[in-house]
Amino acid sequence: MTSVIIVGAGVIGLMTAIELQRAGARVTLVDRQQAGRESSWAGGGILSPLFPWRYPDPVSRLARLSQALYPRLIDELRQDVDVDPEYLPSGMLVLGAYEEEEPEAWARRFEVNMQPVQGDQIHQLEPGLAEGHDRGWWFPEVHQARNPRLVALLRAWIEQSDIDLVENLPVDSIRIEGGRATGVRAGSRELSAERVVIASGAWSAGLLDPLDCTTGIEPVRGQMLLLKATPGQVQRILLSEDRYIIPRRDGRVLVGSTTERVGFDKSVSAEVRESLVDYALRTLPGLSDAEVEHHWSGLRPGSPDGIPAIGKHPKIEGLFINAGHYRNGLVMAPASARLLTDLLLKRTACLPPADYAPCDAVHKKN
Ligand SMILES: Cc1cc2nc3c(=O)[nH]c(=O)nc-3n(C[C@H](O)[C@H](O)[C@H](O)COP(=O)(O)OP(=O)(O)OC[C@H]3O[C@@H](n4cnc5c(N)ncnc54)[C@H](O)[C@@H]3O)c2cc1C
Repeated sequence: MTSVIIVGAGVIGLMTAIELQRAGARVTLVDRQQAGRESSWAGGGILSPLFPWRYPDPVSRLARLSQALYPRLIDELRQDVDVDPEYLPSGMLVLGAYEEEEPEAWARRFEVNMQPVQGDQIHQLEPGLAEGHDRGWWFPEVHQARNPRLVALLRAWIEQSDIDLVENLPVDSIRIEGGRATGVRAGSRELSAERVVIASGAWSAGLLDPLDCTTGIEPVRGQMLLLKATPGQVQRILLSEDRYIIPRRDGRVLVGSTTERVGFDKSVSAEVRESLVDYALRTLPGLSDAEVEHHWSGLRPGSPDGIPAIGKHPKIEGLFINAGHYRNGLVMAPASARLLTDLLLKRTACLPPADYAPCDAVHKKN
């Protein structure tokens, strides 16, 4: 039985641990705090890239495979633990994106159900929408998950499995002996395994840079607001102007987000709060009574072209990477976990591995 240590228990580390364990590996999952408290907690949970046709194909491939894997994965995990991740078919309405040929060609190529909508059709889909939105794209099959609940489901499943979850243990470095990764060092502790996977989100470069692996992963801050509206007041995931609105089942509404390159700084600003409120009210005037309940930020693991690094370190035996999912970590997580597991266990890869090869920081676009 192959033993594996995974460093980082965000959605990527959690799903990779589950996939590896179910494929027969003995897994230890380490996080420096409680699992799932960083980007995977802070995000919006839209299970599709935003303006998906604008991404390189390797992102679309991971997203499409994940979208196919999600329903069964959620069902199977929920058979063992009673945590509802609010995996809901809200659909996504993209407004004000007037490109024509590119989205249609992309949707045909990736077999995505995407429909052009106009005028009244738009207002039927989202009755509370402000006037002036006359064209858009409707994705009826896009789902969402509620981030804190999705990570709670994954963590609860792991706790009842034989995966060893070690929380509140910051890993300082990867132990390399004779050109091979043999474990991790964490303060005065050393943990050993035959394989090590770095899945440390925005912090991955800190562990990889000393190992001659340039991934270009860096933190990109996103600020988010939570408004208290009433159930059903907003019905669809709405996307326009690189901002979005996500309705949760209990009526709460998320409004996001920014893309700020400010290092590892998770502070929030009054200016962004005002601009997100302004966007929400311009889009859905009925939200004027909705109180702002919470304002937070998270650090996305930004990467060149948004393509994650998934696979083996080119020089160090036994060292693997699954990181750099930028704005699409939730939607790409199941397929990323599957691909990493395929490569680590030397199974046939579910997607072309060269597209995600780590440590060169330059990916192929198509
Ligand atoms: C505002 C915002 C909105 C978003 N919206 C969406 C969306 O709608 N849809 C979507 O698909 N994606 C979205 N994302 C992106 C998505 O959240 C991320 O891509 C995804 O969460 C990355 O997961 P991860 O596991 O790689 O990173 P993280 O969740 O950040 O997890 C990394 C983990 O590694 C741990 N760690 C780091 N260093 C160490 C160390 N040295 N030792 C031990 N542990 C360590 C951390 O504690 C953390 O738990 C959004 C992100 C943000 C911030």
